[in-house]
Amino acid sequence: MHIVVIGGGIIGLTTAYHLAREGAQVTVLDARATGLGASDVNAGWVVPAEAAPVPGPGVVLTSLKWMLSPDSPLYIRPSLHPQFLSFMFGLWRASNARDQRAGFAAHLELAEGTIESFDDYRADGMEFEMHSQGLLMAFLRRENLDHHLTHLDLVRRYGLEPTVLVGDDVRVHEPHLSDAVQGGLFFPRERHVDPRALAAALRGRLLEMGVELVEHSEVDSVHRAGDRVTAVSAGGRTYRGDSFLLAAGAWTGPLSRRFGVPVPVRPGKGYSIDLPPLALRSATNLSDAKVAVTPLSRNLRVAGTMEFGGLDEDINAVRVEAILRAPQRYFRDWQPVRADIAPRAGMRPMTPDGLPVMGRLGGISNAFVSSGHGMLGVTLAPGAAAAMTDLMLRSIESPRLRPFSPRRFRAIRASERTIR
Ligand SMILES: Cc1cc2nc3c(=O)[nH]c(=O)nc-3n(C[C@H](O)[C@H](O)[C@H](O)COP(=O)(O)OP(=O)(O)OC[C@H]3O[C@@H](n4cnc5c(N)ncnc54)[C@H](O)[C@@H]3O)c2cc1C
Repeated sequence: MHIVVIGGGIIGLTTAYHLAREGAQVTVLDARATGLGASDVNAGWVVPAEAAPVPGPGVVLTSLKWMLSPDSPLYIRPSLHPQFLSFMFGLWRASNARDQRAGFAAHLELAEGTIESFDDYRADGMEFEMHSQGLLMAFLRRENLDHHLTHLDLVRRYGLEPTVLVGDDVRVHEPHLSDAVQGGLFFPRERHVDPRALAAALRGRLLEMGVELVEHSEVDSVHRAGDRVTAVSAGGRTYRGDSFLLAAGAWTGPLSRRFGVPVPVRPGKGYSIDLPPLALRSATNLSDAKVAVTPLSRNLRVAGTMEFGGLDEDINAVRVEAILRAPQRYFRDWQPVRADIAPRAGMRPMTPDGLPVMGRLGGISNAFVSSGHGMLGVTLAPGAAAAMTDLMLRSIESPRLRPFSPRRFRAIRASERTIR
């Protein structure tokens, strides 16, 4: 079985690894070097406990308010394009407590075993920086902490036993926190990794396993015969295969149309900045500011912002400045750094309902998609890779995949009629 994986981000690389481990011949095609963009600049958190989908109660109203503020953590660039309007309608429909809770449970189910998978990767010879000191959510506003308490029954069901820290207890836990912090939630099982090191380790292991990695080759056409894809073209060459996996992150939307199946994935841009190291006890979520802080051995990474706009990695200096300002309120003795910083942007692959899109690609009998992992690509990658491997190699559709079926989108169901 020869499988062509399109996209060498964290989703493409982990899936290629699981496929190759189970005996498939795999080719990975990437438009640039593998492991760049979102898979490089992300905060590196492996955090099932934080896996609530983006759409939720009040999200639409808050984002409308935030659209007026140039440094808000969430921004939607308005457009009258039908694809944009349909995406926003889907986001509005999914922004309710019931759907958010169901999506959270589906993410938790997919992420079960993710921690153990990262341990397995290391045991298989991949060397990358990984920390297992948990995750702290820190709150300046007590009502934000109270809101998060409503989801704790769900995460407890998955063995993610949190500690609620009120008032000074949070400073006893993390002495760097300032008096402005009113409380926190500590999840001891969560981990964080150095994302660049993780992608490099996967790349190295794939090469050792004989996987063909074709970099700087953008897939620009798809060859179909009836309901089958026979080949894709990239960088002037043609790649044939028995099956094809579309795992092109935020680019999945436009690329899916070349397959004749419109997958509603849009970019949600975020930024990260590496600062001098700070010995925090664990990864820390500056929850009210929506900024992720990740202590790595060589630096402290701060990351944030969700911008729904175009497919570009341009840097918005105002939003970067807002990310850099956030730690000042949360940490005592915080020394703002502005010199020699190099902010980087990455595009999260977002879907209207905030859930990944994984499964068969419309009515094409040998094409599959794994994308739309949004803010959770690192957290969900091993579970997604394992479930997609079952589907692609053995036609086993894991119940874990059901909530993420591409067929939940009307446009994809409609495309099935034209393909057959
Ligand atoms: C600031 C920020 C912080 C984040 N923090 C976290 C976190 O802490 N934890 C977490 O779990 N997730 C986090 N995420 C989300 C996570 O990074 C993404 O969900 C994940 O990287 C998506 O991986 P991917 O492989 O689907 O996409 P990508 O990493 O974007 O990879 C897609 C690949 O497809 C390639 N490609 C595109 N078009 C083509 C084409 N035509 N032909 C060939 N190749 C093509 C691209 O070059 C790219 O390499 C964060 C994201 C951002 C931006």
